[in-house]
Amino acid sequence: MSRAPACPIPEPLARALADARSIVVLTGAGVSAESGVPTFRDAQTGLWAKFDPFELATPRAFARQPGLVWDWYAERRAAVARALPNPGHRALVAIEGRAPSFLLATQNVDGLHHRAGSRSIVELHGSLARVRCSREDREVAAWDEPAPGEPPRCPDCGAFLRPDVVWFEEALPAAAIERAEAAARACDLMIVAGTSAEVHPAAALPWLARAAGATIVEINPSATPLTRHADHALRERSGVALPAWVASAWPASAAPDAAGGGAK
Ligand code: NAD
Repeated sequence: MSRAPACPIPEPLARALADARSIVVLTGAGVSAESGVPTFRDAQTGLWAKFDPFELATPRAFARQPGLVWDWYAERRAAVARALPNPGHRALVAIEGRAPSFLLATQNVDGLHHRAGSRSIVELHGSLARVRCSREDREVAAWDEPAPGEPPRCPDCGAFLRPDVVWFEEALPAAAIERAEAAARACDLMIVAGTSAEVHPAAALPWLARAAGATIVEINPSATPLTRHADHALRERSGVALPAWVASAWPASAAPDAAGGGAK
């Protein structure tokens, strides 16, 4: 007796992926949830349970309590280093390997897409892996041990160092968002996975693609403001839906790639 597939994919959806000429993927925190990296909307655990991430990830919070914000990011960096890419990350590597044109625009700062093997990536919100000077805005690779309760200081100018991520209320790097917008306007398939589709300007990318006539497919166990405007909505976890979609689009060859790709 054969078992029903974990996530049934309608035939037109399988064809849309296999036939797409230009694919843009927008990912958010949900894609890394199955790697054990919590979304901001999930309850915070342990020591950090009493802090609201939407309050900590702001320039105001860093100005008021730089040591607290630095420590929170240090803990997130350590948690991400322990995490591994999941089948959803790897399925996107398989899609990139088959699509004639592909761009992955991610709001995630965890580096898991890179570690899964994705190459054509634009990091809209920066990366936890990098640190920059809060005054000079340039990347800093090494610093001295900080005073207790403070972030480390820039070896050149003495200002506090900060994570190279985009905080709420800050502008995105212009080159990153411009590249993503241009690709969104030119794609024929946009996949929107694991994002609440509420944090702008990234949330506008599917609308640009839709206005240009692209097919929009959302993958999210919960409904978002985008859901009823998408051509297809797969109400499933990305670690289940994306490999199933790859396997249905390329039945002969997809399974090894979707499952492979290797964590680094
Ligand atoms: P979000 O927290 O606003 O939304 C997460 C979405 O993922 C929700 O809609 C939820 O229903 C969905 N989701 C949860 N589990 C899922 C799964 N297994 N598969 C598919 N979808 C799932 O996240 P956002 O839209 O990325 O925006 C919030 C901000 O938080 C962004 O700026 C992002 O940079 C930042 N953030 C990043 C990380 C990370 O790098 N991993 C983690 C937390 C927050």
